[in-house]
Amino acid sequence: MYVKNLTLKGFKSFASATSMRLEPGITCIVGPNGSGKSNVVDALAWVMGEQGAKSLRGGKMEDVIFAGTPGRPALGRAEVSLTIDNSDGALPIDYTEVTITRTMFKGGGSDYAINGTSCRLLDIQELLSDSGIGREMHVIVGQGQLDAVLRATPEQRRGFIEEAAGVLKHRKRKERALRKLDAMEANLARATDLTAEIR
Ligand code: ATP
Repeated sequence: MYVKNLTLKGFKSFASATSMRLEPGITCIVGPNGSGKSNVVDALAWVMGEQGAKSLRGGKMEDVIFAGTPGRPALGRAEVSLTIDNSDGALPIDYTEVTITRTMFKGGGSDYAINGTSCRLLDIQELLSDSGIGREMHVIVGQGQLDAVLRATPEQRRGFIEEAAGVLKHRKRKERALRKLDAMEANLARATDLTAEIR
């Protein structure tokens, strides 16, 4: 499994559709200051579901949409597609190639798709969670982040290890199940009260 292609359209400084074909192994992106290298990394995190504007180096989520330049008007939508070669079947899906797409419109939320079919963010998170990639997997180490890891508290460090070990998916499932259980208990209490009133 490896990232095969990344296409940005209307994302940050990439107003026109820009595709990057990647090969297995190490890829280096070089360019002058301010040319958009970090924007490419932001696009990777964003397409995998990043929800924090600050992590994307912006004030609000909509800041990822191309804001215009003196020579080019602002756009109304940003779209990023990430294609993963899955010929080794590492991702639990019956496709040898998987394309994840995230689209955001000005004033609206995000739409997600897997191989062109609309899906929820949760579907993308679940698809990627056992693969070692994904926005919460610490595969993206931003500038200054190494410092943060070195200064992490023991609890935070435990979190890093749990994520690397693939515990995160199960912890999230447990949290969802506990939330459902709470809601069921509240319903049960209400039903018990009603029964007592009727008697
Ligand atoms: P450095 O080497 O200094 O870290 P870099 O190559 O990583 O730079 P980026 O930080 O990726 O550069 O890109 C910064 C550029 O992206 C700036 O010129 C900024 O104006 C532009 N930019 C960021 N967001 C948007 C946006 N929404 N619309 C248009 N341009 C944007």
